[in-house]
Amino acid sequence: MTVGIIGGGQLGRMMALAGYPLGLDFLFLDPSREAPAGKVAPVVHGEFTDPKVLKWLSRQCAVLTFDWENISVEALRKHASGARRARICPPVPALAAAQDRVAEKRLFERLGIPTTRWRAVGSRAALERALREVGLPGVLKTRRMGYDGKGQVRIRTREDALKAWESLERTPLIYEEWVPFECEVSIIGARSTRGETVFYPLNGNVHADGILRLTRAPYGTARWHRAAIAHLTRCLEHFRYAGVLTIEFFVRNGRLIANEMAPRVHNSGHWTIEGCATSQFENHLRAILGLPLGSTRPTGHSAMINLIGQMPPREQLLEMPGVHLHDYGKHPRPGRKLGHCTVVEDSATRRDRLARRLLAQVAPGVRLP
Ligand code: AMP
Repeated sequence: MTVGIIGGGQLGRMMALAGYPLGLDFLFLDPSREAPAGKVAPVVHGEFTDPKVLKWLSRQCAVLTFDWENISVEALRKHASGARRARICPPVPALAAAQDRVAEKRLFERLGIPTTRWRAVGSRAALERALREVGLPGVLKTRRMGYDGKGQVRIRTREDALKAWESLERTPLIYEEWVPFECEVSIIGARSTRGETVFYPLNGNVHADGILRLTRAPYGTARWHRAAIAHLTRCLEHFRYAGVLTIEFFVRNGRLIANEMAPRVHNSGHWTIEGCATSQFENHLRAILGLPLGSTRPTGHSAMINLIGQMPPREQLLEMPGVHLHDYGKHPRPGRKLGHCTVVEDSATRRDRLARRLLAQVAPGVRLP
């Protein structure tokens, strides 16, 4: 049985690596000749919007999924779905909501999930109104195509806002209040085509410059975990979802405030490869194929550290006992995610000690809270 994956990045590659033991085959679509998934599975090279390639891919596969959410919903609907075509999972409406920060905020509000105060900004007058109604400080973000902190400017004064508006003009924007959070957490869960659901322990995430640097799990209180599961369940049921879905939250005064959702496997869940009975990648595949979902029981206390911009020498990382290295085989570039390391220890104290040693080597500016 062949699973088609649109996007051949590291997430797709880890999906394929999780799927081979289940007897699955994979076929990727990616415009790049250097897509990380190309090292482990065949890649059809073409644009994500190419009608011919999408039609062909959809005919070859039992199910189509994606490892990146910034793909064309219109092209998917028009060329990849319909009679004699593969099922698309996760559902396209979930993808559409996650692509537009305004649609995502409206969804959270409709489902009663607390989120930041926000206003859509399509003109200078709308920006002035947003500043008055939401207040300062805040953050201006592009409605679409933002990831890893790209397309967002922090706003401290009205002058900052007007300057940012000049630089981002003609792009639809959203203005959000700045949340002085205590910490950031994310919840990852899966719902299968048969309606079965599972949830992973809560992740505690540390970002720098908008990019995830460190995740620790299990993290946070039982109350946060219950609240996160309730919010995620509402989204899963709303879309009659199939696959893995992630929601990221700010924690402020003990309350969870949704920041964004990702209709796919997520960077904050990489630790589940070594740190859980069943990884997020395997459960995504099980979910979209209607197979029974696997246990999300953690096997210890895990930390995942992203390797960004430059790969440290392999020997340096592997000489630390218990370090699992994932090198995505990408060319180095500032701010680019090139790999990650995971450690799983039998106590949170030992895990944090090792994570501190790793951080000192690979990301000296990042502090363990
Ligand atoms: P995003 O692309 O929306 O996930 O933003 C990336 C990161 O920027 C978040 O994980 C936060 O660390 C920070 N950030 C984004 N929006 C806000 C906000 N409204 N208040 C505080 N921090 C934010």
